[in-house]
Amino acid sequence: MQTVTTIVEVRQIVSTWKKAGKTIGLVPTMGALHEGHQSLITTARQQCDKVVLSIFVNPLQFSPEEDLACYPRDLPTDQIKAAAAGCDLIFCPSEVEMYPAGFNSYVECFGVTQMLEGHSRPTHFKGVTTVVAKLFGIVTPDIAFFGQKDTQQVAVIEQMVRDLNLPVTIYSCPIIREASGLAKSSRNQYLSVQEKKEALVLSQSLKLAERMINTRQPVAKIHQAMTAKIEESPLAVIDYLKIVNPQTLQEIKEIEKECLILLAVYIGQTRLIDNARFTITNKGEKK
Ligand code: AMP
Repeated sequence: MQTVTTIVEVRQIVSTWKKAGKTIGLVPTMGALHEGHQSLITTARQQCDKVVLSIFVNPLQFSPEEDLACYPRDLPTDQIKAAAAGCDLIFCPSEVEMYPAGFNSYVECFGVTQMLEGHSRPTHFKGVTTVVAKLFGIVTPDIAFFGQKDTQQVAVIEQMVRDLNLPVTIYSCPIIREASGLAKSSRNQYLSVQEKKEALVLSQSLKLAERMINTRQPVAKIHQAMTAKIEESPLAVIDYLKIVNPQTLQEIKEIEKECLILLAVYIGQTRLIDNARFTITNKGEKK
C-alpha cells in the first residue's frame, strides 16, 4: 500500500491502473479510522480491482464553532488499519493541496441539504459536496463508498451525482456498531467512560422504536417514547429526533411501509448522530 499527498501522484497511479483495465473504488474519510471505515474499504476491495482511501479533515465542512482543530488525526495508525482492510492507495493531501490560494469554486445541493444536519449545520453540506466533487475529479473512481451512518450525506451525494451527471456509482454500506450498540464514530474518542455509557441511549431509543413499529404504534407515541428514553441520560441534549420518509427525508405522521429515524444528540460536549431504517412487512414485522 502506498501513501501519497499530491494530486499529481494520485493521477499518475490511477492512470496506470486504468490503462491496465482496473476498476477503481474510492472511500472518502476524515481519518481516525475505525471498523466502520474499514468495512467500507473491505466492501470496496470486494467490488473493485483497486481501492483508494482519502484522508482529509476538510475545513470547509466545519463551522467556526465546531471541532476542526481538535478532530483526531493519526496517520500511522490509519495506514496500518487501511492496509489491513485491503486498501491500495491512501491519498492524504494538505489543506493547501486541496484549497490553494485563489480557490473559489463550490458545489452546493439544495432541497435535501436543508433539513436535519443541514438545518443544524447550515454550511456543512456545501463543504461536503465541494470536497467530494473534487475527490471524484482527482481520483475518477468507478464506485465511491459511503456509510449509512451519515445517511443524509448519502442522499446529498446521490443528488449531486445525478444532477451533475458525474460518472461514478454511489454504494452505501451499513452502520457498524460496537457490541453495546453504539455506532462507531471517530468522535467517540471524545467521550469519557461515563459519557460512552450514556451515549447508548441513542441506539437504545432506535431499538425501542423498532419494537414500537413492529406493534404498529403511532408515530407521535414512538417519538415521545424515544425522547423519554434519550432523556434518561442526564448528559443528553437532543438536537433533533425525526421520523421521516426515507426517500424525501420529510417528516411523516404515519408509517405506511417504511420510515427512517434520525437522531443528533449531544452527550456532554460531543455531538453524536445515529439512524435506522425500518420496513413494515405485510405481516407487520420489520424486515
Ligand atoms: P468520516 O471519516 O466520519 O467522514 O466518515 C467517512 C465515511 O465512513 C463516511 O461515508 C461515513 O458514513 C462512514 N462511516 C463512519 N462511521 C461509520 C460506521 N459506524 N459504519 C459505517 N460507516 C461509517
